[in-house]
Amino acid sequence: MAERTKAGTLPIELAPGKVVEFTVVRSNRKTLGIEIGKNGPKLRLPLRASERSAVQFVQKHASWVLSHLEKLEKLKEPEQPQHRQSSPEAGQRELTPEALESLKQRARELIPDRVAYYAPKLGVRPARITIKAQHTRWGSCSKAGNLNFNCLLVLTPPEVLDSVVVHELCHMLEMNHSKRFYARVHGVFPQYKQCRKWLVDNGSRLLAMLPLN
Ligand SMILES: [Zn+2]
Repeated sequence: MAERTKAGTLPIELAPGKVVEFTVVRSNRKTLGIEIGKNGPKLRLPLRASERSAVQFVQKHASWVLSHLEKLEKLKEPEQPQHRQSSPEAGQRELTPEALESLKQRARELIPDRVAYYAPKLGVRPARITIKAQHTRWGSCSKAGNLNFNCLLVLTPPEVLDSVVVHELCHMLEMNHSKRFYARVHGVFPQYKQCRKWLVDNGSRLLAMLPLN
């Protein structure tokens, strides 16, 4: 007999500014489970599990999920993005390769300027700035001070873009998300919280515009 199932999606923030959309499949099971496959992350839930308990469960395993998603993304990167003929998901417009290229170009012009504006306020000197099209993160910072930013940031309000720039620059001072880290963030960017909320509310919609290759 077929299991009773119900499917939907649930965007979950796995780290500040990193919102990942999970496909939710509810079925007659007792435990919660996470699967990361080439169709993206999937959350398997008992029929009656609350959304809140699902979010908590995923957040508890956030680093595991993020590392698997990153691995998956690395596997995809060497391939040339091919124009997919399949239609984008309902309500989502997938960016064409040309549109994506022009976003990257705008990001390469805009983001280094914002970095140059905030870096002296924090007393840091980033090594290299790279613009990427990533499915799961808005920015990152390596120990060597190399910064990565998602080209989709140019589609967010300017203060949201700035909040991600400040977040990554602050990682050059604090490689964690501690109280000290957020104190530094708020020190140069007091409106950080509202901007982060914007990303949580709208980020997954933007990330869904990236072609899956
Ligand atoms: Zn961070």
